[in-house]
Amino acid sequence: MNYAAHVTAGAAAGIGISYASLRFHYNLSPVLVTVPCFLAAALPDIDHPKSHLGRRFRFLSKTLFKAFGHRTFTHSLLFCFLMGYLFMQLHTSVGIGVFCGILSHILLDMLTPFSKGVALLYPIKKRFGIFMS
Ligand SMILES: [Zn+2]
Repeated sequence: MNYAAHVTAGAAAGIGISYASLRFHYNLSPVLVTVPCFLAAALPDIDHPKSHLGRRFRFLSKTLFKAFGHRTFTHSLLFCFLMGYLFMQLHTSVGIGVFCGILSHILLDMLTPFSKGVALLYPIKKRFGIFMS
């Protein structure tokens, strides 16, 4: 999937989670969920130097690519939980938004046809995907 698809899905996920939290009286802030969800939905691809974020944060992107490869650590549940926990220190809604944005990215990458899948359980290197080549 590309940048536009990921951030669109992230925004949709954020709106859905905000609606669900209001519906079930959990009281998450819709803005503090949706905006981080939208932004975090692009974050996992920072591990690829030619991605939208990779071109803007070239040094970090190349370092991550050399250290882990593409669709490994930043596309794992470990990264998802780490970033969610980290941002939850700012605000619960932000942490949930970041977690859901990264998770939406991972799920979309798993649905990408003819890909190599994602290392969802990194550091276990097995890759998961629906239509893997
Ligand atoms: Zn990706």
